[in-house]
Amino acid sequence: NYTTEQLQRLDAAHHLHPFTHGSALGAKGVRIITEADGVFLRDSQGNEILDGMAGLWCVAIGYGRDELADVAAEQMRQLPYYNTFFQTSHVPAITLATRLAELAPGDLNHVFFSTSGSEANDTNLRLVRHYWAAKGQPEKQTIIARWNGYHGSTVGAASFGGMKGMHEQGGLPIPGIVHINQPDWWSEGGDTSPEEFGLQRARELEEKILELGEDKVAAFIAEPIQGAGGVIIPPDSYWPEINRILKKYDILMIADEVICGFGRTGEWFGFQHYGIEPDIVTIAKALSSGYVPIGGSLVSDEVAAVINDSGEFNHGFTYSAHPVAAAVALENLRILKEEGIVDRVKETTGPYIKEKWEALTDHPLVGEAKIKGLIASIALTPDKSTRAKFAGEEGTVGTLCRDICVANNLVMRAVGDRMIIAPPLVITNDEIDLLMERVWQSLDQTYERIQA
Ligand code: PLP
Repeated sequence: NYTTEQLQRLDAAHHLHPFTHGSALGAKGVRIITEADGVFLRDSQGNEILDGMAGLWCVAIGYGRDELADVAAEQMRQLPYYNTFFQTSHVPAITLATRLAELAPGDLNHVFFSTSGSEANDTNLRLVRHYWAAKGQPEKQTIIARWNGYHGSTVGAASFGGMKGMHEQGGLPIPGIVHINQPDWWSEGGDTSPEEFGLQRARELEEKILELGEDKVAAFIAEPIQGAGGVIIPPDSYWPEINRILKKYDILMIADEVICGFGRTGEWFGFQHYGIEPDIVTIAKALSSGYVPIGGSLVSDEVAAVINDSGEFNHGFTYSAHPVAAAVALENLRILKEEGIVDRVKETTGPYIKEKWEALTDHPLVGEAKIKGLIASIALTPDKSTRAKFAGEEGTVGTLCRDICVANNLVMRAVGDRMIIAPPLVITNDEIDLLMERVWQSLDQTYERIQA
């Protein structure tokens, strides 16, 4: 029975937050979320907030689904924990792995489980290096990733990531991970057309492979749509060219689907839009709709065969395929499928919001407005004709807009001066109308504030 003020004081005194300037937070006080239902959050002061970010992109089926709570309780009673090391398995692990193999296209028929996207990407790092060594090519160890990509916060995953602020803390990236530029036409495309720019950025991959030597490059990792980098939806020319280059030089493709996976873009996997043929797919977040922590690496028949035939893969987590997490994920996948939620994003809510989202370019602050399914971004600019940046520190206007959104009971995230949304996939058309109303209202208020 603490008051909000007491909770804020205790939080500032004892809780170190991820990706947060702690002492700045102490002065302001945290917002304390107490409950949630559907697409709405409630805080300790009674505000009802439309969650335009599905938590951290994960609450696909919405908040408050009793089925998941019931499955978790049942599994905890029956078998709360057992591991899958040393020739042991259990029913939730087996059924979830089987279901994922059914859902994933092609021959992505095998899963190595973790408890997060970061752990899954660290698994991928070890997996691809072990794969090439086992195939008799121990020199093929370098992994190419992209600037401004995000792949998690563990050492390997943060090295894959192209966030310079993360690299600066802790001496990253680790050796053998290099980065190429991202296909962000709005910020970096200059006078080039988007399609030409997409090709140019894809060809940087080929240049990097030739510079390093094709026999040195193990894999390329990328998100089909960069999420935390600001929802960068690439030009259509980008991915087919990347795919061609990877096949030409026999380099593994790791598609990081932690955000795009399980319906976010209107397909089960984001790579299905773009003709990407991944060998490894990172999954987490919407796999369980965030109700419990679980992640994994889905791998092809070929990768699995090499790993299985090369002795023991010396890697694993106490909670790999945790039975409660696996049971909850399976129930979540059942709901996504049986309630037609992914199809709804593709056929109903996705097209409905697309038209409204793209019309945001009518607002004086909005340059680019891009959307795929239920993942979207706008670029804020003082002059859309020149794609100009605001004077002063980057992100100042974005942060202002984000805070105004929260005051208007909408969670919309700022990445620099881009604003992004990824609401729960169960959002209805009426709720989309409410979301758009709050977006317009918040943009108007941001505009007024920076004019003043
Ligand atoms: N990969 C991508 C694309 C992500 O967006 C994230 C998290 O936001 C991760 C990996 C890391 O996942 P986790 O936070 O579960 O470790």
